[in-house]
Amino acid sequence: MSSIFKKIIDGEIPCKKVLENEKCLAFYDINPQAPIHVLIIPKKEIKDFNQLDSQSMSELLDFTHQVIEHLGLKDKGYRLITNVGEYGGQEVPHLHFHILSGAKLKWEKLA
Ligand code: AMP
Repeated sequence: MSSIFKKIIDGEIPCKKVLENEKCLAFYDINPQAPIHVLIIPKKEIKDFNQLDSQSMSELLDFTHQVIEHLGLKDKGYRLITNVGEYGGQEVPHLHFHILSGAKLKWEKLA
C-alpha cells in the first residue's frame, strides 16, 4: 500500500509545495512543530535513511541546499532531522527530512 507521501507525489492528495524537481519534493508539514516546518522527500520510494544510497543522497543534498536558500534560512539557521523506525519515532514510512526553523529552537531531553 502507498504511503501518504507517495500519494502526495502522485498528486492524489494536495500539499503546500515549496519546491520540486524531477527527483525530489519539498512541502510544508501539516502539523508544524516550529514557525517554519518543511518536509523534503525523494520521489523514489525509499523507506528510511537506512535504505538511502549515495546517488539519492546526493540528489537530496543538492535539493535540500536549494530549499534552504529558497526559504532564506542559510544564514539564519535551521534544524535538519530524519526520524528512523520505532525508536526514532518515524510515522510515515517514506524517507523525509524535516527542516525546522523560524525561531531559536530548543534542545530538550527527548526521552
Ligand atoms: P515522521 O514522524 O518523521 O514520520 O514525520 C511525519 C511528518 O509528516 C509529521 O510531521 C506529520 O505532521 C507530517 N505529515 C503527515 N501527513 C502529512 C500531509 N498530508 N501533509 C504534510 N505533512 C504531513
